[in-house]
Amino acid sequence: MEKREQQFSLWYFIVVLFILMTIQNFFISAQVQNLSYSDFKTLLKKKKIVEVTVGKSQISGRVLTEGLREVLPENKIAGLEKNGAEEHRFTTIRIDDPGLTQELEAANVRFTGKLESTWITVLLSWIIPAVIFFAIWSFFMRRMGAASGVMEIGKNKAKIYIEKETGVTFDDVAGIDEAREELMEVVSFLKNPEQYRRLGGNIPKGVLLVGAPGTGKTLLAKAVAGEAKVPFFTMSGSDFVEMFVGVGAARVRDLFSQAEKKAPCIIFIDELDAMGKARGISPVGGNDEREQTLNQLLVQMDGFDTNKGVIILAATNRPEILDPALLRPGRFDRHVAIDRPDVKGREKILKVHAKKITLSDEVKLLDIAAKTPGFVGADLANLLNEAALLAARKGKASVEMSDFDTAIDRIVAGLEKKNRVINPQEKETVAYHESGHAIVAMSRKQADPVSKVSIIPRGIAALGYTQQLPTEDRYLLKKTELLDRLDVLLGGRVAEELVYGDISTGAQNDLQRATDLSRHMIMQYGMSEHLGLVTFEAPISPTGFNMMGAQGKKEYSEKTAETIDGEIQKILEKAHARVKKTLSQKRALLEALKNHLLEKEVIERAELEALIKAHANDTVETD
Ligand code: ADP
Ligand code: ZN
Repeated sequence: MEKREQQFSLWYFIVVLFILMTIQNFFISAQVQNLSYSDFKTLLKKKKIVEVTVGKSQISGRVLTEGLREVLPENKIAGLEKNGAEEHRFTTIRIDDPGLTQELEAANVRFTGKLESTWITVLLSWIIPAVIFFAIWSFFMRRMGAASGVMEIGKNKAKIYIEKETGVTFDDVAGIDEAREELMEVVSFLKNPEQYRRLGGNIPKGVLLVGAPGTGKTLLAKAVAGEAKVPFFTMSGSDFVEMFVGVGAARVRDLFSQAEKKAPCIIFIDELDAMGKARGISPVGGNDEREQTLNQLLVQMDGFDTNKGVIILAATNRPEILDPALLRPGRFDRHVAIDRPDVKGREKILKVHAKKITLSDEVKLLDIAAKTPGFVGADLANLLNEAALLAARKGKASVEMSDFDTAIDRIVAGLEKKNRVINPQEKETVAYHESGHAIVAMSRKQADPVSKVSIIPRGIAALGYTQQLPTEDRYLLKKTELLDRLDVLLGGRVAEELVYGDISTGAQNDLQRATDLSRHMIMQYGMSEHLGLVTFEAPISPTGFNMMGAQGKKEYSEKTAETIDGEIQKILEKAHARVKKTLSQKRALLEALKNHLLEKEVIERAELEALIKAHANDTVETD
């Protein structure tokens, strides 16, 4: 966009110049008569020429207008006689004519030589370079964002919002306790910085809040400012990215200088990804402005003295696209993840927002929380509002459960379109699936222990997740460990199969990963009994080129390929049988874990271990 804007003004300039040139040309040609060289010579011989200036390619001068009719035919002199003056200017193209000087002398004409400088040459040799120079200069001035008059645009239109007192406290933020605790620390930095600096520590500059829209990132940032009783500066990342190159950068500078004056304070940059997208991702051109703005932000953050008490909070829901430079130490090096709230969290959020609403006694907020998996804080606030409006429309004295049910249906319908909530049947499938992963992981000695299982949807792709934390960093894996991993991957799918006799599409990614893993075991690690210690895939060199010739991967015959596929199949089938046995034996545990997940949506390691212990002596059903 910014490019087109500049080109437009350049074109405008060129058009004006062209018009001026045409006008000038018109006036000049009205006063000057073009003659053919032969006519010029005729006039010279008849002593009608008064004065001549000889240029390199052109001869100009003055000619008497009287008595021309005797010399030239009438159609040729019409222009010369027209204005009635005694003399008239003329020009003619010069022709190689060595005798001309003598003839001029003979005719007693004053003549001078001349280095030609017509308006065209003036234009070419001076104005155009000047224009080009000016264009380049102003382009660079804008790029560098120098503090010239042009830059005032940035200052005047900057949408920086300042709140002296946000009035928001941590009591207004519910259900996201971990994030809240981490930010409480920031509050104490702001309140008594000396205490932290005493031992030489540095107060963090930037904290990045990562979470889905509506999870309360802005609310948390405001609460930090409110608790610390400091001013709150907000700006959205998209406000920084402007039409004109350099304006965004100017705004960043402006924001920081204003904030510095009001320190201690909080700067909150919403939608950081709009300005902080990794540089060089988009195709050539068009992102100069964003890059510049981003660079300016980095410069400001680096040059910033935290001891002044300015802390920068930023929010994004797409941390993966951020420029890595933003996340380096001294910039946004602290990350606070804000998850979607679980049932308990949703109940707490509802409680906060229900204060303003008259609820009927029969309404249990926990029931509402249970019916709204996947809802974030903003959705819940919206839900309460909708329900209150519905009840008011019906003339009720208080908001009843039926109003909530209607409101939930409405909001869910809206959210389902955006793929953000799941229906009860899906929820059960996901609960079985994740339980399967978790139980297999906990029953395999060499698999990483499970730290958390959740069926709260995360993003669009993952409906639930089982988090395994390795007990130590591992670089070398034994075959038995890989097999255990394979089992864990298949756990979800097999659980679905056992319960429903059918599998959902959610298990597809697991199967893909299981297949990849077994393929690697056979082809790279040589772990197949049948094919033995052979690797079939050339390792990829650090530069990305195949180290075994340009031919690429396939270094084996079709027959071997078939054998490999057979081996992969065998590994997967064996794993499948093992997992099926495990899960059939632990069917009761599977049900228990599923029920726990359906109710609470998450389970942490301690609870999971307790549950497993409780089911340790289950009688094994065999069928
Ligand atoms: P984000 O910045 O993450 O998109 P906001 O902070 O703007 O979300 O949240 C929008 C609104 O939703 C808030 O003003 C608040 O009313 C409500 N809200 C969101 N999360 C919470 C929460 N954890 N506790 C209470 N209210 C919340
Ligand atoms: Zn899975």
